[in-house]
Amino acid sequence: MPEFFDTHTHLLDAAFDPDREAVIERSRLACVRRIVEVADSPAGWPKAIALSRACPAVRASLGLHPYHAREFEERLLLGLERSIRLPEVVAVGEVGLDYGPHNTATPHDVQQRALERLLTAAKEWDKPVVIHCRNAYEDLLGILRKTYTGPPPAGRYWGVVHCFSGTPEQASACAALGFAIGADGPVTYPKNELLRQAFARVGPAATVLETDCPYLPPQSIRGKRNEPSAVLEVARGLAEVWKLGIEEAARVTTANALDLFRLA
Ligand SMILES: [Zn+2]
Ligand SMILES: [Zn+2]
Repeated sequence: MPEFFDTHTHLLDAAFDPDREAVIERSRLACVRRIVEVADSPAGWPKAIALSRACPAVRASLGLHPYHAREFEERLLLGLERSIRLPEVVAVGEVGLDYGPHNTATPHDVQQRALERLLTAAKEWDKPVVIHCRNAYEDLLGILRKTYTGPPPAGRYWGVVHCFSGTPEQASACAALGFAIGADGPVTYPKNELLRQAFARVGPAATVLETDCPYLPPQSIRGKRNEPSAVLEVARGLAEVWKLGIEEAARVTTANALDLFRLA
């Protein structure tokens, strides 16, 4: 059985309160060998670190989701820098831009300023970033081009554009800048042909797998709670897109994720 890497989870969400340990055990049995738990605001940072200490398969990424961009202040970077040095913490994120209907209360310029500061800090700290982007790919690409003016060192990525939902052209642009592209449940939805074309365009070399659980369940569990073991269905969907066996799709995307989070 190949080994899978779920690069984006929210296992600390209340949806997992009744059975979190069982969910993690199920993912282990499904050969999901590594998980990155993403904390989206300072309140969640210590909890993600604690989860990583309790579960060796789990590492933490600490960020400030664009939903929380108004909470950004310079002081926050001091606390983040302290935590980012811990061995449990592999990345800064999620950070990003969300111009979608759930984030209309956060002005775009506020989101952009917070993102630019967080990216600059992550680059200074030499840490990869986990980027969230909704309906904002052109603005995101503008900010990434300003911050990341050259390619990453060989065998590395600057970060990942998680839960990719843009066009094939935007996917190529992210990959060309040195970012991996995160694929999750929606790539398995019958209607999402354009999204599959985006992953066909960038190919296995720039793709990592994720579930974003408890959100974004793949087709077979649509409408239900998602969990890391469902990353296998994402791998199967992509293997079809790339005309590869699932073993090969797993092998390449897991290797990419180990490079991304520098766990290789
Ligand atoms: Zn996100
Ligand atoms: Zn997330």
